Amino acid sequence: MTPRTLLMIPGPVEVDPEVLAAMARPPLSHMSSAFAVLMQESLDGLREVFDAPDGQPFLIPGSGTLAMEMALANLVEPGDRVVVVDTGYFAARMAELAEWLDAHVIRVTAEPGALPDESQIEAALQQGAKVLTLTHVDTSTGVVAPVERWAPLAHRYGALVVVDGVCAVGGQRFHQTAWEVDVALTGSQKALAVPPGLAIVVARPSALEAYRRRRTRTRSYYADWGKWLPVMEAFQAGRPAYFATPAVNLVAAMAVSLRCIRAEGMEARWARHERIARAFRAGMQSMELEMVPRDPAWAAVTLSVIYYPNGIDDRLIREIEAAGVTVAGAIHPALRGRSFRVGHMGEIGLPALLQTLSAIEIALRRLGHPVTPGAGVAAAQAEWTR
Ligand SMILES: *Cc1c(COP(=O)(O)O)cnc(C)c1O
Repeated sequence: MTPRTLLMIPGPVEVDPEVLAAMARPPLSHMSSAFAVLMQESLDGLREVFDAPDGQPFLIPGSGTLAMEMALANLVEPGDRVVVVDTGYFAARMAELAEWLDAHVIRVTAEPGALPDESQIEAALQQGAKVLTLTHVDTSTGVVAPVERWAPLAHRYGALVVVDGVCAVGGQRFHQTAWEVDVALTGSQKALAVPPGLAIVVARPSALEAYRRRRTRTRSYYADWGKWLPVMEAFQAGRPAYFATPAVNLVAAMAVSLRCIRAEGMEARWARHERIARAFRAGMQSMELEMVPRDPAWAAVTLSVIYYPNGIDDRLIREIEAAGVTVAGAIHPALRGRSFRVGHMGEIGLPALLQTLSAIEIALRRLGHPVTPGAGVAAAQAEWTR
């Protein structure tokens, strides 16, 4: 067997054996009533996880990027104005996608680790926009956007709001309907703790209405809401329907994971992620490691992006791996070779947290950086029991 490390990257994440076991069963017919039950359960569960009682979930084979494409391709027509709040690598992908659809893109940017001023966003919206995109947690910087403030702001200027929640939904507190988010999206492999392969989009009636009013055809055959809506509506009513073959084994896994998530309860799940993040940050602080988010209030609870101390480089990632834990390097061009990323979302708890901190301490010491053995672990324990 290949040696296994603890997987602490910002997706894919550790998956519970019960979720894996659900995947290992022989595929069901996608037209069977047994599969329809799994889809129905998953769609109900997703509405709860997104806190979108009026939302229409779409659960289709694909990665998070396909979910981004489904959201924009169904709303945006050539020449539409799209305001992209650019807080990092994945926000920039949203801008690229909108340009791909021949939208007129207005970027509101911030330095890595920072958030743009609300006045900049307002100025962009004043020029008139069909859509505003926000990246709830930008996985390249670890910065959280205040969706609860900026979504209602966009509505005051008549723009629809699309939130990329790929590194957030299921870990970072989120209320799609109450926060006035027209479309929110994620992938299976992040805070929902399922293997990669499912794209998830939840569209509220306002977004479906905007789709129906399009003058031009959606520029994606596969991701067109018109193709998938009757399928999702049928499954919701407990009946199978077909447009393209669903990832039946992954849906079985998703149904089990959503059962675990609903058993925990969203409030408890968000609070657990907040507690883990606080304890992890306490550990970083005790080792005098600096976080990329410039204000602790902007730091995500699903992952941390951390600057290397002086004299340390990407060798740290290999040393952490040698100590039994897999973490990720930077993907933001401005942070490459200067920082690393640790995912702490999904089903993990105190043991994974302490193991990760211990591996970081060992790795730093092996590279000659002065760290007292156990300093990070002790600080995290103190915060945990505070
Ligand atoms: C991971 C991620 C994506 C891309 O998802 P893929 O599954 O890799 O296509 C998009 N946005 C954010 C915020 C992400 O973290």
